[in-house]
Amino acid sequence: MAVTTDHAHATTRSTSEAIALDERWSTHNYHPLPVVIAHGEGAWVTDVEGRRYLDFLAGYSALNFGHRHPDLVSAAVEQLGRVTLTSRAFHHDQLGPFCAELAELTGTELVLPMNSGAEAVESAIKVARKWAYQVKGVPADTAEIVVAGSNFHGRTTTIVSFSTDEVARADFGPFTPGFVVTPYGDAAAVERAITPRTAAVLVEPIQGESGVVVPPPDYLRTLRRVCDEHGVLLVIDEIQSGLARTGELLASAHDGVRADLYTLGKALGGGLLPLSAVVGSRDVLGVLRPGEHGSTFGGNPLACAVGRAVIRLLSTGEFQRRAVELGGRLHSRLGELVGHGVTEVRGRGLWAGVEIAPGGPAGRQVSEELARRGVLCKETQSTTLRIAPPLVISEAELDRGVEAIGEVLGSR
Ligand SMILES: *Cc1c(COP(=O)(O)O)cnc(C)c1O
Repeated sequence: MAVTTDHAHATTRSTSEAIALDERWSTHNYHPLPVVIAHGEGAWVTDVEGRRYLDFLAGYSALNFGHRHPDLVSAAVEQLGRVTLTSRAFHHDQLGPFCAELAELTGTELVLPMNSGAEAVESAIKVARKWAYQVKGVPADTAEIVVAGSNFHGRTTTIVSFSTDEVARADFGPFTPGFVVTPYGDAAAVERAITPRTAAVLVEPIQGESGVVVPPPDYLRTLRRVCDEHGVLLVIDEIQSGLARTGELLASAHDGVRADLYTLGKALGGGLLPLSAVVGSRDVLGVLRPGEHGSTFGGNPLACAVGRAVIRLLSTGEFQRRAVELGGRLHSRLGELVGHGVTEVRGRGLWAGVEIAPGGPAGRQVSEELARRGVLCKETQSTTLRIAPPLVISEAELDRGVEAIGEVLGSR
């Protein structure tokens, strides 16, 4: 079939043409803002009409280092000139260094590289189950994993099996058994849910998708103690919260808590490509044997080379420091809006959930008004704005974005 259209050249299209093509040919599993991005650099993106926007979402934290960070782009370009994919049928020279450097950075012993965040969570679930049967001695096919309500861990059939979001679940059953849901923040409920068959407790240290919800200060510490007392693994999903976003490498470090397994993703690929991992102790990840789990693209040379450049950025501590400093500024500015169209501001570091006052505009309307003012962010749930600018943003840029939020919300 002859291709006569210029599909490859999105920059030649107007916003409405580009959206029409997207709507006609892509499945409607998202409801994006009517902005068509053609270019990104640092904290800024430019649309097909040449309008510039501050990126206040940063790809849900996949773009912690901004768009096209030069160190990450040059690592990718260099690796593109060598080898991009070998499959795991053979060794390659980037996997060992990537795993060693990620283990060192996170203070863990083994690394299982995958691609998407959901795959990392799936992998952690499989590892926790296998550990329960092989090490803990749970009878075959009876292992349970205790999770939190309002969680977000991805979109696979197993993961939506323990979602409490009806939209994420409806019509996707039958669901995978073996999960017990407890209210987020309620460590006593987790302890009550634990049985001799419990393999793991799986939680987010801060619930991003649910509106940047920070649990009570003793939650993770109590979960750690309860898991230790009952011989249960603590699995912490740091896919959105981790890699400097909150001011620490891992958000759970704010509470001084160490997990048996962490899932990492999003920013691990530097916003260039999908790269996720499960990292943790040898006792647990060591249960996997050849043939039991894998992925064609997991740990590929290109992803590992980019991941290594991400690790180099994170090992300086510069981005963690920026998240603390800029985050302090963000939270104090946003805090001024409480009582002025905003009921609550939650979060940690350069990450905030802004709760729109009842009777105020819908989250979607606020996102659209902000886009018209040159600031891109997105509501989560219907009444919360999620703010997560790239950690490379300047103070002046941050102020400009917060000012726009104040104009849209605070003037009401
Ligand atoms: C985004 C996210 C995931 C899923 O990652 P994908 O790459 O979209 O599959 C899992 N857990 C958390 C906490 C996330 O924020």
